[in-house]
Amino acid sequence: MTIAAPPITKVPNYVNGQWVDSTATEWFDVTNPATGETIAKAPLSDAAEVAAAVEAAAAAYPEWRRTPPEDRIQPLFKLKVLLEDHIDELSRIITQENGKTFTEAKAEWRRAIENVEVACGIPMMMQGYNLEDVARGIDEMMIRQPLGVVAAITPFNFPGMVPFWFLPYAIACGNTFILKPSERVPLTIQRTYELLAQTGLPKGVVNLVNGGKAVVNALLDHPKVRAISFVGSTPVAKYVYERSGATGKRAQCQGGAKNHVIVLPDADMKMATQIISDSAFGCAGQRCLAVSVAVTIGEAQKTFRDAIAESATNLRVGNGLDEGVQMGPVITSQSKARIESLIAAGEKQGAKVLIDGRNPKIQKYEAGNFVKPTILDDVSPTSDLADTEIFGPVLSLIHARDLDEALAFLEHSKYGNQASLFTSSGAAARRFRYEAPAGNIGINIGVAAPMAYFPFSGWKDSFFGILHGQGRDAIEFYTEKKVVVERWAKEHSRKF
Ligand code: NAD
Repeated sequence: MTIAAPPITKVPNYVNGQWVDSTATEWFDVTNPATGETIAKAPLSDAAEVAAAVEAAAAAYPEWRRTPPEDRIQPLFKLKVLLEDHIDELSRIITQENGKTFTEAKAEWRRAIENVEVACGIPMMMQGYNLEDVARGIDEMMIRQPLGVVAAITPFNFPGMVPFWFLPYAIACGNTFILKPSERVPLTIQRTYELLAQTGLPKGVVNLVNGGKAVVNALLDHPKVRAISFVGSTPVAKYVYERSGATGKRAQCQGGAKNHVIVLPDADMKMATQIISDSAFGCAGQRCLAVSVAVTIGEAQKTFRDAIAESATNLRVGNGLDEGVQMGPVITSQSKARIESLIAAGEKQGAKVLIDGRNPKIQKYEAGNFVKPTILDDVSPTSDLADTEIFGPVLSLIHARDLDEALAFLEHSKYGNQASLFTSSGAAARRFRYEAPAGNIGINIGVAAPMAYFPFSGWKDSFFGILHGQGRDAIEFYTEKKVVVERWAKEHSRKF
């Protein structure tokens, strides 16, 4: 008996509290990276569909803005419980469309939920300040007000977490919200919006428009969209930032990365190896905080190289839903081809391929997009590869004379998302914290991902804007300040 394959679902949009079938003429095939199978089709929606979502969000705004902050956070408390209750189901969806392991997907959801929890503090965090008698009988206050309709555009690598750097803060501050997720991973957010629909949020407060560049452009150009949050690659981040500026929107645009870790000879080498291996190869290297260049100093060159090579060789690679798998595939066959060609380019530029993960055979998953952990040794710090974001499970090794030279490599990089140091010296750690030119610093930490109550602070070409995502920056970003100066003549009060 042959079993019919399940029908391939067409992902709908969510506008004004309703699921709406897209009128798109073009659809993007969403594939399972471990099997190569097409699992859904995402619409490449058009400007008219964006306009409908903006109108719904604009119509919902006046009433939502008047809703007291205490009432605005009640749906977020419900959302937290719903996400907790469905965390296994949501994590499986991430693994199916993104490829990361089930454990990694679950950890991603924990960070998403943390942002919901923090946004529940809006009644405290959104407060302004005031001062009586700025002049005799005159009082002054600063109050924060929401902006109106705001939008976020997110990447494929954290389908669940990245939208939550924005959505909970935006709506808790009284804005209405439109999300454009990555067309490569629309299913996680589809299920998340099904849960959002159960929280009692009024219609039009949260909306979802699937698509690609046309949706992004329509959001950037729509006069009623007041603010844009973007996370993705540097060229697109720059483009979104520039176009937001041209249309007068505030924007926060997080871009790509090339993260360095410096390993000093006094580091606890066992711990350093374990943590750096997790950082470089976890989520198949598709993390904007993944370490991708390890700079060793002194005898760490040999000890670290030998240890990391062993660790990389032993990682179990496969379908992230299978028991015991430690690393999944990369997102698409095009990504696999790009990563493998960059490894070849590195080799041409003089690097030695110490561990070669190209074209592995993964039993039962021959059609999957697998690249095994790869280590390039003796990478020239001035080669193209040393400053190219590979976004795959590839670690480059560079040797430096001392901390001065290692810091100079970081200075030279166009990116500044994260930099880490492994050492047991407090003085070296302090110097690194002081001088390293990156927004997120790890000391004996491989993935220095800020908790939700701190900003996600990329620097240089890893971030365009002023206010970052998460924490207090999110409140600043999603509110406008208003200053009121008041005088009430004394005689008026004497009447009563
Ligand atoms: P991407 O730039 O290809 O896509 C991001 C979003 O932009 C998607 O929603 C996509 O549909 C849209 N987009 C793509 N091309 C566009 C174009 N030409 N015009 C308008 N919109 C466009 O990024 P990705 O491949 O989905 O994600 C990986 C990248 O994101 C990496 O560079 C990674 O470092 C970066 N990233 C950065 C952070 C951070 O916090 N700095 C976090 C996660 C990912």
